[in-house]
Amino acid sequence: SNSNKNILLTGTAGFIGSNFVPYFLEKYPNYNLINLDLLTYAGNLENLKECENNTRYKFIKGDICNRELVEFIFTEYDITGVIHFAAESHVDNSIKNPGVFVQTNVNGTFTLIDVAYKYWMNKPFEYKEKYQNSRFHHISTDEVYGTLSENPNDLFTENTPYAPNSPYSASKASSDMIIRAYNETYGLNTVITNCSNNYGPKQHDEKLIPTIIRKALSNQNIPIYGDGKNIRDWLYVLDHCKGIDIVYHNGKKGETYNIGGRNQRTNLQIVNTICTILDKEVPKADNSSYKELITFVEDRAGHDRRYAIDATKLEDELGWKADENFDSGIIKTIEWYLIKYGIKK
Ligand code: NAD
Repeated sequence: SNSNKNILLTGTAGFIGSNFVPYFLEKYPNYNLINLDLLTYAGNLENLKECENNTRYKFIKGDICNRELVEFIFTEYDITGVIHFAAESHVDNSIKNPGVFVQTNVNGTFTLIDVAYKYWMNKPFEYKEKYQNSRFHHISTDEVYGTLSENPNDLFTENTPYAPNSPYSASKASSDMIIRAYNETYGLNTVITNCSNNYGPKQHDEKLIPTIIRKALSNQNIPIYGDGKNIRDWLYVLDHCKGIDIVYHNGKKGETYNIGGRNQRTNLQIVNTICTILDKEVPKADNSSYKELITFVEDRAGHDRRYAIDATKLEDELGWKADENFDSGIIKTIEWYLIKYGIKK
């Protein structure tokens, strides 16, 4: 349905949101996208440059915890849908500085959904009708489910009990619970998606894959945690965006959907794959392999061993399927970074 005209998107100057906005603007010519982002260290307006001149794109710098600002935005733009990306997102930072994770991820999510509820539903009946299809889509992570055994067939489903292990995943789990309560208690039209690790263009330097590429290209040691055998289930960012699109439009009210591309890889496999591609694309002068730069460093505290998603519900009920596998997605990703670093045109 194209009835949701003015949609509030949060956190779109970051990695996933900035891939989502151009995709969504192009796909839905009758949507106006209002973007709220605090521009923390993780947000970069350069990521949204391609949208700047689009009249259906509006950027507002501000904090999702600022209730007055959020209320102003709902009223000013008559918001009839929310897709909520904004978060503190880096596990290592959450270990050093958990407070801001609780503030943004928990209090910020509460502020947004509470304002949405009051704007859409806590009103006389005639207004309720107008906003009854307004939907709040919360973007979350598979990390809320904790860690899996080494058995490759052991997967996270939507029924896996929550067992977050890091301050990051605990704050995301808390935010998911708030969303759940607004659906259960007030009947708000919510959906949640829990996605596996993303990779692709525009990801912040601090994350694993950009770090591997950057360190290799600058001929510095490539740090790998512990024994490098931690497993993640990697999804190309545009496949995540397509999953969000499908769930936002067709997901069932109050439901959760897992998103993942069935691409389990150890960190060691990731770094080896990237080095092999770089060896071919940008051979070193002495013809040595980038793999020689791999250096094992002390493991992250509380490092979850394995994540992997069972996306059957999204695939079977809503017809989503990842377009990229890891081998095709990583080539696109490396190409993007080679252009970013001026190595390719
Ligand atoms: P990111 O860190 O790249 O971007 C986060 C954005 O949120 C930044 O632009 C930042 O400025 C903004 N932000 C932070 N605090 C804010 C605040 N208080 N008010 C307004 N804006 C604020 O994150 P990402 O990787 O794009 O992740 C986006 C969402 O997807 C997050 O909710 C994250 O938990 C979730 N997620 C990420 C992954 C992944 O692999 N990156 C996987 C699954 C789910």
